[in-house]
Amino acid sequence: MSEAPFIPYNRPAMGDEEAAAAAAAVRSGWITTGPRVREFEEAFAALVGAPHAVAVSSCTAGLEIALAALDIGPGDEVLVPAYTFASSVTVIAQRGATPVLVDISEDDCNIDPAAAARAVTPRTRAILPVHFAGQACRMTDLQALARQHGLRTIEDAAHATWTRDGDRMVGSIGDATAFSFYATKNLATGEGGMVTTADAALADRLRRLSLHGMSRDAWARYTAAGTYRYDIVEPGYKANLGDIPAAIGLVQLRRLPQLQARREAIAQRFNAAFAGEPALDPPAERPGTRHAWHLYPLRLRLERLRIDRDTFIAALRTAGIGTSVHFIPIHYYSYFRQRFGWRAGDYPVAERTFEREISLPLYPDLADEQVERIVEQTVAIAREHAR
Ligand SMILES: *Cc1c(COP(=O)(O)O)cnc(C)c1O
Repeated sequence: MSEAPFIPYNRPAMGDEEAAAAAAAVRSGWITTGPRVREFEEAFAALVGAPHAVAVSSCTAGLEIALAALDIGPGDEVLVPAYTFASSVTVIAQRGATPVLVDISEDDCNIDPAAAARAVTPRTRAILPVHFAGQACRMTDLQALARQHGLRTIEDAAHATWTRDGDRMVGSIGDATAFSFYATKNLATGEGGMVTTADAALADRLRRLSLHGMSRDAWARYTAAGTYRYDIVEPGYKANLGDIPAAIGLVQLRRLPQLQARREAIAQRFNAAFAGEPALDPPAERPGTRHAWHLYPLRLRLERLRIDRDTFIAALRTAGIGTSVHFIPIHYYSYFRQRFGWRAGDYPVAERTFEREISLPLYPDLADEQVERIVEQTVAIAREHAR
């Protein structure tokens, strides 16, 4: 048993500046969607090189209004990776559309463009790629497929604030891109998200859908220039972001280059330490991309070990290190199996990846001494149980 304090799996990089910004928003008297949200949208749009950004209450809500704004619904099929967080798929089901799972590529754990091409049918309307861990999907290939079949591209960029594919920032690529500012993400506001798009009409519809389908937003209603009158022009959602999380987001956005530099340094330290270990398969960065390192997904080479992934996790826990696993494949969840008839064995790369994946702690506030403990303990466990 380790004497040093437990290293939690995740800890948000929240400091005095975030606290002061949230307090200032509280004291300003404007706590719902207002000037700080507008400022946050503009600053985020500038970061990712998108002409428009609409702040939302979560990435999940952002994906759902993006599907709605693109009129995707019953009868439509949407391609989505089998290896993702559940909400990439629940949003499709919520719209009454049909999710069509696609297996991932072994190298980057992202949707496999060739498998996606095989999954296209006359009903396919959109593709919903997920930039796993912060590693960019092969967007050039996916966009070529989308063009060929007239598909919309809606990206789940929950892990991909800061990710670049070639010279394009994620957020400036697909028809719509949804980001997450959930507590564990690279840029955190507790709960929150952003949808970016280059299409002005789509941005207007996203904004409207995020607030009841109202013809003007609350922000305009209560200013000196506003009036109480508004219209409801379609049945919208309630998915707007408030000014308190936006105030935190503005601080996080300013700190992002430093926070990302620290993530990058930790990931590179892990990669260097694990590269020579026969039982460890560290994540590779696809050339020409910039990884956001939201996660550090270490894969085990199980054929080189006498223990399975869960036993490895238990050993890390005993050594004082918290971990997580990303992801339980979508077709393992009972609802999806019953509703869509998916079976174990259907998506073999996703299944194999799940069986051998451990997400190690990776966050800016990890001290160098903690990073070294994670390295030492991980290597020690791998060697002790080598086959
Ligand atoms: C976190 C996450 C989401 C959901 O983000 P929320 O902001 O919590 O809705 C969606 N997709 C992926 C891949 C995620 O990791």
